[in-house]
Amino acid sequence: MHESCGVFGIYAPGVDVARITFFGLYALQHRGQESAGIATSDGKKIYLHTSMGLVSQAFTEEQLAQLHGHIAIGHTRYSTTGSSRACNAQPILVEGNSGTMGLAHNGNIVNSKFLMEELTQQGFSFSTTTDSEIIANLIISSTERNHVDKIRYAMRRLKGAYSLVILTKDKLVAVRDPMGVRPLCLGTIDGGWVVASESCALGHVGAQFIREIEPGEIVVINKNGVRSFTEESTRKALCIFEYIYFARPDSVIQGKLLYSARQAMGKILAREHPVEADLVMGVPDSATAAGIGYSVASGIPYCEGLIKNRYVGRTFIEPDQRLRDLGVKLKFNPLAETIRGKRLIVVDDSIVRGTTTPKVVAMLRKAGAKEVHLRICSPPIRHPCFFGVDMATRWELIAAQKTIPEIRDAIGADSLGYISIDGLIESVGLPKDIFCLACFTGDYPVEVQLEMDKLALEAIPSGSLSELGGS
Ligand code: SF4
Repeated sequence: MHESCGVFGIYAPGVDVARITFFGLYALQHRGQESAGIATSDGKKIYLHTSMGLVSQAFTEEQLAQLHGHIAIGHTRYSTTGSSRACNAQPILVEGNSGTMGLAHNGNIVNSKFLMEELTQQGFSFSTTTDSEIIANLIISSTERNHVDKIRYAMRRLKGAYSLVILTKDKLVAVRDPMGVRPLCLGTIDGGWVVASESCALGHVGAQFIREIEPGEIVVINKNGVRSFTEESTRKALCIFEYIYFARPDSVIQGKLLYSARQAMGKILAREHPVEADLVMGVPDSATAAGIGYSVASGIPYCEGLIKNRYVGRTFIEPDQRLRDLGVKLKFNPLAETIRGKRLIVVDDSIVRGTTTPKVVAMLRKAGAKEVHLRICSPPIRHPCFFGVDMATRWELIAAQKTIPEIRDAIGADSLGYISIDGLIESVGLPKDIFCLACFTGDYPVEVQLEMDKLALEAIPSGSLSELGGS
């Protein structure tokens, strides 16, 4: 399962903003590994470099040196929507009547087809297959006179998830959709300002975290400082999977350190699904903290039973089944000496299609595990995501097709226990009504229900949601 993108922005006169953006993106690499890009402005001109590949592969010293100025935005992308092509790398630049604008986007727009048709009729053409270009064109299509009002116009038309960083010649703008599906935070650096998808990126570049950008908020940063504008937010829908899996464990979202939330998930799993065993392990790296939590709460010793090859990317480079099959072998190696003859509790973050988990269970058994009891930090995923998570169609989700005992048998575990929705909320320690839980409940945020019904009908027979356009 992949999240779509990471975004970063900086306004800091006298600072090498391209280099700082590079390291900001480097810290956000886990949010997307297919392409990376940086756009900068020196007040007169906008400069851009994008490339396929990891952040470390996408830039050379010479290319960074060409990105002049004191304002920058950056993006690291996983192509959940829009195909994996160089032209879809971000930031993108568009020309409007108030000049050139750069934009980078994390999320997914659910009414993008409708908006694209409308913009095409108005004479706009599209050079990418991402919905980020639709957002950018929607902003510049507005007849409003200033950028904030143009963005407000677009926000009233857009439905879905979008955390944006926008660059013009003289300002940096950060925007979070009124539901606040994807995170976005604000910090300071050397008398300037930074925005990033996750707080971990601020720490890496020596910036200080100030606060999160609120759902529906537009933050404008220019030579006059920071100004904030707000669009109404009627329904909040922060993606709970940021806590389970996507965001880095050293990030803080809504005041909660993710590492602590994941440990709490493990503790609650131990309470909800106890079992006699010799050792507890977490599937590295996303379930390590939860595995430790399970061990602490149950008193069963923690061990490292699988060693992860950290140089194969976060999950799988290409989202096709053949490479997924290969990927699990490249990714883990079991520690046979540790697990041989042992009854294992294995904590993992989620089960999506149920294609990877049986291989992990089989690998542990082959290495000598006597029993494998699987504990999962997410409730069963029964509904697809329409907000930028490359999950699967409903037909591919194992929990949409099978009961829990059937899933246990299909993955070859001795027992299987999922955290409850209430247990998950308790572990995060925030009110339930601020979250999107749609992939467990099918209760999508109200504002986008009609669009999602329509997309669901289109998506189910055809396969991947990744063909629907977006970022
Ligand atoms: S449907 Fe699931 S993965 Fe998608 S935004 Fe909602 S909680 Fe996150």
